Amino acid sequence: MASQEIEALSAALARLPGLGPRSARRAVLWLVKRRESALPQLLDVLAAVRDTLVECDTCGNVDTKNPCGICADSRRDQSQICVVEDVSDLWALDRAKLFTGCYHVLGGRLSALEGVRPEDLAIGSLLARVEQGGVDEIVLAMNATLEGQTTAHYIAERMENMPVRITQLAHGLPVGGELDYLDEGTLAQALRARRPLG
Ligand SMILES: [Zn+2]
Repeated sequence: MASQEIEALSAALARLPGLGPRSARRAVLWLVKRRESALPQLLDVLAAVRDTLVECDTCGNVDTKNPCGICADSRRDQSQICVVEDVSDLWALDRAKLFTGCYHVLGGRLSALEGVRPEDLAIGSLLARVEQGGVDEIVLAMNATLEGQTTAHYIAERMENMPVRITQLAHGLPVGGELDYLDEGTLAQALRARRPLG
């Protein structure tokens, strides 16, 4: 029977995405064995994340400053906004270094099954950004899942009467594909070949 502390740590780690109870126990064992060497460093990094990271009020990115480094970068094209489901998608696209515009993170996707409604996502703030003017193109970069595409069409509908071009990533994207898992070449290709939403 493991101690209460170890049980608590295992339970906390098992809640992380991609880690089940089994992987969590392996991680705990690894940490326990290296509690003198690796653990202090991990604690420092975690504390830095807790103390310094904030959400950008403009785009929803997570950074050490608000507005984030992307929104504050004057070399970025403010007239293009790439809309993504999650921060991880923004990071994936930005790693590919092909998009020179700005981003907007929705914080999820519409889902009847999970009860996610338009008002649960950052759609209102996206519409407000477009209404403010100066935006020429909205690139909808939802995942190639049914819910992702439903979300893309919903947003396109809401923007129907706005003077803005709406495009979406080319679907050389694998069906069911999540942006975060694509290699940078595939992502870059999907972005380059983006087309009007039909
Ligand atoms: Zn931002």
